[in-house]
Amino acid sequence: MLFRPITTAILATLTCGISFQVQASSDDPFVQGFAAYAKENGALSGSLEAYMKDVQSAERKAGYIGKKLTLPAPQKVTDGAYTVVGSLIWHTPENFGLNNNLSWVEFEDGVFVFNAGPNPAVAYSFHQQIKQHTDKPVKWIAVENSQGHAYLGASYWVNIGVKNLYSHSRANQDFNNGFKEIKASWARRVGEDITHSARNVSDKFTEFDDKLVIDVGGGETVELLNFGPGHTPGSTLAYIPSRNLLYTGDVAYNKRSLALFSYTHTGHWVDTFKAMKAAMPEDVIVVPGHGAPTDMAKISEDTLGYLEFLRNAVKQKIAAGGKEEDMASIDQSAYKDRPVYQQTHQHNAVHVYKELTGGDLGQSFE
Ligand SMILES: [Zn+2]
Repeated sequence: MLFRPITTAILATLTCGISFQVQASSDDPFVQGFAAYAKENGALSGSLEAYMKDVQSAERKAGYIGKKLTLPAPQKVTDGAYTVVGSLIWHTPENFGLNNNLSWVEFEDGVFVFNAGPNPAVAYSFHQQIKQHTDKPVKWIAVENSQGHAYLGASYWVNIGVKNLYSHSRANQDFNNGFKEIKASWARRVGEDITHSARNVSDKFTEFDDKLVIDVGGGETVELLNFGPGHTPGSTLAYIPSRNLLYTGDVAYNKRSLALFSYTHTGHWVDTFKAMKAAMPEDVIVVPGHGAPTDMAKISEDTLGYLEFLRNAVKQKIAAGGKEEDMASIDQSAYKDRPVYQQTHQHNAVHVYKELTGGDLGQSFE
């Protein structure tokens, strides 16, 4: 009876714990045998639960216990700056939820990381990549917004002792409020075994509203910036003047079709994008939220250009008496070669229609 509430999450933790001790994987016969025996013998569930607690505390000390995932190789963006460009489709078990970008920059006093990863397993595997490049410790982490792939890996970094975590105030509150649903959604779509140990560590984050400057040593700084809402209500951009380098988070996409969520406001996004563009050097190197490193001209075309096109097209339909079902007739074929175009473009038009007419945008837990 007692065994019943011990669900997949616990068994997955159990599996990870065993693999840590005996370097075996989830098909370790000892784990299988023990789990099956416990299932038949209710009296064992108490010791199983005690064992689970041990495993969890061991995992907290180690940061993460389990297999190292094979992530895409990091790309050099500029001196000391690297980015792992995530999958251009949605989050799946095959891409481990890594469908945005994970980046690091090496400074005199340590390493700055942008985005915590979609789960502790990806965070751990990404950290191993950093260690192959530098002996310097990870000292600072900022996350692009409230989404699971920005935040759910954060407890790994807290576990290994990173003390300086940063997020925009609204993003941190949104992640904190939605944690249960966000974690459940990502675990379901990406994998329970690599997500289950993620904890809500939003209380460990330093929040900022407009700008926060981090002194990273050697006379260099990282400027954390917010230019307003758009793709998400709260977001963080990181600008490094000494490297002429900008991490836009989801304010900007390269190539990939834009994804609009219930909390996305395309009108605000246009204003926010323009404010960012006005504040940055024209020749700044850009690491976007989705897609490969690029420049301001490319993200302007792919993000601002598409938003303005779509908003104008929807406004024209509405002016001509169009209703929600008429949005499908908007010709978006100029964008048809972008990844996930098929899955997003019609929804995007309907989203803008609802935004402009006060319709119900639903509720997303991404
Ligand atoms: Zn995102």
